[in-house]
Amino acid sequence: MLRNDQIDEWDREAFFHPSTHLAQHARGEAPNRVIRTGSGCHIEDREGTKLLDAFAGLYCVNVGYGRTEIAEAIAEQAKELAYYHAYVGHGTEASITLAKMILDRAPKGMSKVYFGLGGSDANETNVKLIWYYNNILGRPEKKKIISRWRGYHGSGLVTGSLTGLELFHKKFDLPLAQVIHTEAPYYLRRPNKGMSEAEFTAYCVAELEALIEREGPDTIAAFIGEPLMGTGGIVPPPEGYWPAIQEVLDRHDILLVADEVVTGFGRLGSMFGSDHYGIRPDLITIAKGLTSAYAPLSGSIVGDKMWKVLEQGTDENGPIGHGWTYSAHPIGAAAGVANLKLLDELNLIENAGRVGAYLNKALAEAVGDHAHVAEVRGEGMIAAVEFQKDVEAGEFFDPADKVGARISAKLLEQGVIARAMPQGDILGFAPPFCLTESQADEIAGKTAKAVAEVLT
Ligand code: PLP
Repeated sequence: MLRNDQIDEWDREAFFHPSTHLAQHARGEAPNRVIRTGSGCHIEDREGTKLLDAFAGLYCVNVGYGRTEIAEAIAEQAKELAYYHAYVGHGTEASITLAKMILDRAPKGMSKVYFGLGGSDANETNVKLIWYYNNILGRPEKKKIISRWRGYHGSGLVTGSLTGLELFHKKFDLPLAQVIHTEAPYYLRRPNKGMSEAEFTAYCVAELEALIEREGPDTIAAFIGEPLMGTGGIVPPPEGYWPAIQEVLDRHDILLVADEVVTGFGRLGSMFGSDHYGIRPDLITIAKGLTSAYAPLSGSIVGDKMWKVLEQGTDENGPIGHGWTYSAHPIGAAAGVANLKLLDELNLIENAGRVGAYLNKALAEAVGDHAHVAEVRGEGMIAAVEFQKDVEAGEFFDPADKVGARISAKLLEQGVIARAMPQGDILGFAPPFCLTESQADEIAGKTAKAVAEVLT
């Protein structure tokens, strides 16, 4: 095994880390951490420090670390057939079985699963399919995609454009012109404090209507949203939001993409966020929880309405010109099959709902009354604590104070990983579904201590 200092040196010398302050990392000013192993809700680094991972990696290791059932399924698939492509009608038992298992669990009206590698490429696929769909229907001008400010849909060219966070646009010449953004359904950040939740929903809907009218309904192809907004702040939708948005989209013949990369396969305590909130999507994006990140795999679940048009398109134009070498990779598919079986066998989605509710309550009790805590919010096994300088006045801290990041660092010193969300002073929690009530208590207790240390 390499010495820790050797790995450390190579890390700074050779490794381009995503979403990292590159200069500080290269100069050795920012902390790095080399993770060696994991089990259940814990990971361990090369120094032997054990950490309770209350963010499940990047909210993806849903079944928890160290599941040998998935590791063995991957090994067996690799030994039997590590790779074959899925072009021109090819497949493997694992990829076909997984597609069937996904459709058996998906909301009503879904027809087929296209497999990719990660959430970003799945959303890239979705946008291409939406454009193809409208071209086949003879509506070449109906192409714009509406996303929400603070939505997160990936960091490619079109998906980075869909993402409504400044950091992902700045200096990258994004967003692209085909993408437009509307109001985030973020009640804490409502324009006027006197608004009720229902009034704020009506405001979001009116903003969407106005945008559609301004741009022209004939130019708008689709709307994309996470059932519960994730990276933009972990924000459950306000009362009545999704049915009201759905009504506007239906009226203007605008497709709805439910980006369930985080919410799919149990994070909210239900199989899909679409079912949880009564959304009827035309496309569903899946990734993370599909394999619990044991192997890279994503998918676009295509609804009946679009599928019919895609078939028509290939009758008219020949095979669809879309595919990756690693679409439906057998190793990813084997991991997906084993992961979905494990979720069922261990009743992990039910646990996510029950212990997740316990965690949300424990956090609210631990920090809800703190003078600088504006909100403790969440649903199922996901939660956030948001901080403000003056809660009464609704005044936020100066981002330069890095309050969220400092609290997360204090929590880490106590052995708990929570994520300082990228925009705002928001501490995010999304542990593996196997979390226990005593681990939830540990997270809440240590959070209270970290908050008290930073915000006296
Ligand atoms: N969509 C959502 C809702 C996400 O949260 C993410 C990643 O966090 C993505 C898409 C992009 O997925 P990936 O990072 O696998 O490309």
